[in-house]
Amino acid sequence: MTRTNKFIITTIAIFSLVIFLYSCCQPDREKEQPYLVMLSLDGFRWDYPNKGDTPNLDLIAENGVKARSLKPCFPSKTFPNHYSMATGLYPDHHGIVLNSFYAPEMDAYYSIMDRASVENPDFYGGEPIWVTAEKQGVISGSYFWVGSETPVQGIRPAYWKKYDHDFPFEQRIDSVIAWLQLPEKQRPHLILWYMHEPDAIGHHYGPESKEVMQSVVYLDSLVGVFIKKLNKLSIADEVNIIVTSDHGMGPVYPDSVIILSEYLDENWFDEIQGYDPNYVLDAKQENYNEAWSVLKNIPHISAWEHNHVPERLHYGNNPRTLDFIVVADSAWSVRWDPGSYTSYGAHGFDNDNTDMHAIFYAMGPAFKKEYTHNTFNNIDLYPLIAHILDLDPAEVDGSLENVSGMVVKK
Ligand code: AMP
Ligand code: ZN
Ligand code: ZN
Repeated sequence: MTRTNKFIITTIAIFSLVIFLYSCCQPDREKEQPYLVMLSLDGFRWDYPNKGDTPNLDLIAENGVKARSLKPCFPSKTFPNHYSMATGLYPDHHGIVLNSFYAPEMDAYYSIMDRASVENPDFYGGEPIWVTAEKQGVISGSYFWVGSETPVQGIRPAYWKKYDHDFPFEQRIDSVIAWLQLPEKQRPHLILWYMHEPDAIGHHYGPESKEVMQSVVYLDSLVGVFIKKLNKLSIADEVNIIVTSDHGMGPVYPDSVIILSEYLDENWFDEIQGYDPNYVLDAKQENYNEAWSVLKNIPHISAWEHNHVPERLHYGNNPRTLDFIVVADSAWSVRWDPGSYTSYGAHGFDNDNTDMHAIFYAMGPAFKKEYTHNTFNNIDLYPLIAHILDLDPAEVDGSLENVSGMVVKK
């Protein structure tokens, strides 16, 4: 063999080896990247399936995992919790501390009713799981998940929708299925989607009402429709599904209401933020002591000063939680003014109240079968999803250790 030939053969061998090693070390996203589709049914209390006929959730439990319950973060409200589920962070750490709040560092107000604020990325801290995915080359989609209507860290899910409360649930199913039918190179491997019931019905009629049970049965049937349509796809066996919720619902009574303005003078405060059963207040400096001395003695509520909320609630240290944090006792309502509206269900209470706990069901190749898991915190969902999708997780408050028992070993 001539010197030139030897050189060529050695060069080809080294080149082939480098290509081989490179391809071994690169995850083949297109072929092996798993799928995960997580549905949140707002306000679906952990024990609703024990009270009505839910064959489709039962089917997931039989073929996969059911947790005793999913514990929300405090305050057990919709926006703080959906964003905790997405980021793995306590509300104090991701910044969406209530459904509506004042951000002193921005001198700006956030409210779920105000589109401009919901779409302002400056309110959102942490790293939602879809941002983690997109950063690592995994395509994601979100159908109305809190925080996905704005570019957090400059990144949006590849597919996302502006919140449209009235968009029919059946069509949301078809849209998610359509995403999963996209050509491989455009198909999302992570999808988060949302339906706003049985929360609204739970508020209106109360968690023990027949109307809630009818809604639960209907939503279960939609889960069944989704599974049926999913099973027709060629990738059906590769898709992991989670059906879960942001919080539960507790009963409240029209004759158990605390009206804060009957105790406190509006003029003592610069800010009165939140709504039943959660408020945060900022006192004028000269009225702080007087306000606190009254506030801490109001019956049927808990009130804490900033940085003095019990450790277990992981709340009240973010400047957005202002000087005082207020929550009604379970089964009580707290309002600033007496209003005419009476509701029979509420959430936002202490997350040790199990009425605030949500459902968790999961099934697919990553999950064990017929496995019941203990109650776990919703901040553990981020590390769980990152693990299933082979993503390097951001640093979060949740922990994979708390949920690793439900997944099959890789
Ligand atoms: P709440 O029960 O007060 O915690 O809020 C629940 C409500 O949040 C639902 O009825 C939805 O209408 C609303 N909601 C959920 N996601 C969004 C969103 N992305 N944008 C605006 N409103 C939303
Ligand atoms: Zn909710
Ligand atoms: Zn609600």
